[in-house]
Amino acid sequence: MRPVAAARGKEGKNVGKTHIIGGMVATEEGLQRADLLLENGVIADLAPAQAAVHGVGDVVDATGRLILPGGVDVHTHLDSHLNGAVTADDFRSGTIAAACGGTTTIIDFSPQIPGHTLHASLAAHRARAEGRAAIDYGLHQCVTDLEAGSLEELPGLLEAGVASVKAFMAYRGTLMLEDNSLRELFVAAAALGIQVCLHAEDGDAIDELATQHVSAGLTGAKGHHRSRPPKTEVDAVRRAIAMIRETGAAVYFVHISTAGAVREIARARAEGLDVMAETCTHYLVLDEEVYDQDEQVARGYIIAPPLRDAREREALWEALRTGALSVVSSDHCPYCLSEKNSPAHADFRTVPNGAPGIEHRMLVLYSHGVHAGRITIEEYVRLTAANPARRFGIYPQKGTIAVGSDADLVILDPAGHTVINQTNQHQRVDYSPYHDWKVHGRIERVYSKGVLVSQDGSFVGEVGRGRYLQRYERAK
Ligand SMILES: [Zn+2]
Repeated sequence: MRPVAAARGKEGKNVGKTHIIGGMVATEEGLQRADLLLENGVIADLAPAQAAVHGVGDVVDATGRLILPGGVDVHTHLDSHLNGAVTADDFRSGTIAAACGGTTTIIDFSPQIPGHTLHASLAAHRARAEGRAAIDYGLHQCVTDLEAGSLEELPGLLEAGVASVKAFMAYRGTLMLEDNSLRELFVAAAALGIQVCLHAEDGDAIDELATQHVSAGLTGAKGHHRSRPPKTEVDAVRRAIAMIRETGAAVYFVHISTAGAVREIARARAEGLDVMAETCTHYLVLDEEVYDQDEQVARGYIIAPPLRDAREREALWEALRTGALSVVSSDHCPYCLSEKNSPAHADFRTVPNGAPGIEHRMLVLYSHGVHAGRITIEEYVRLTAANPARRFGIYPQKGTIAVGSDADLVILDPAGHTVINQTNQHQRVDYSPYHDWKVHGRIERVYSKGVLVSQDGSFVGEVGRGRYLQRYERAK
């Protein structure tokens, strides 16, 4: 086992016993009525439900409730500094929001500071997280400046427990790597067993369209949307797959939003390339009509890739069922509407891209996926917890309910409801893409390593108790 396993046992020593009885435990294998014993931070026992409870400790009656593995969100941007803008949630508020929304593990993106090495950048991001997280967290390191950050630094990242990097095919001049640099990164990463998370959009094509739209006077959110048509994603994915085939790199495509990209990815996987892809909550439940709203509101949906039409959206649901898409992440990248509407932004090209979502991923996907009959509970567990944990080397410590796994659990009342809005959220941002939505399901309790961290929507955990996850391994 990894060193984290040893550290975990020690840390959990003072955690009392909790019995959760009578609930329906959800795993990838299905539902079973079972009792759980949480002890020393892990699941110590899992047995078919019994009438009598033995032993001491807290007893929680979960009759009529679902018990889900705590969510694993591998795409978040907390305390992220980029071009003078900083995301509104730091590790404190972001992980509190995650915990209240049923997510008990995140893997956050450490940005490369322009002109700085990968190690200096990683150290800076680790310092931002240290002592502030309410749940466990790992990090990916972004590689956006190969002049400053050498590929020779990659082995050191592995030693630091960072088994994945991120590269961008868009945002020339700030984040984008040219194809030749990307190829070099693929080769170096493949040699070390490091996975590359890839933002696949054709940056140059987008920049050209953006210039045209701004010249034509389309300076707002609609201009952003029209500058990034589906083709810009599909072309980039296709180009990347050709490089993956050449180099043997393991690639995880982030925020896939189109049917065309899904087709390319499905084909690459069938071919045996080491490729996996996620989509994000918002692409599944929103569409491009949001850009027809008042500009002030529409700017809240300036995200990349943008929201698509209903046909693309249905193709994403289908891909979740077929397995072409393996993970649903939040891409939590919160900027306040006040920031997005600042007069400093003459047009959409400088509006920071991103939207909040860390707190509502689990519930929105439960409601629109499981409750609506679009995906099964087994698929839900796979997409929100098991697959991301496996792919990023933290399974079965995270991502499942099994004896010996961390006691990261969500108790959800499937008959309950939740109203989402910016006044009851823990995300430190002045809007929600799901404002005033009433969703099916209510999260009653969330446990992180056997400790109750959220109850009835309130945070009851302890900031600083979340630990950094060293990740070395990666499953296909
Ligand atoms: Zn992102």
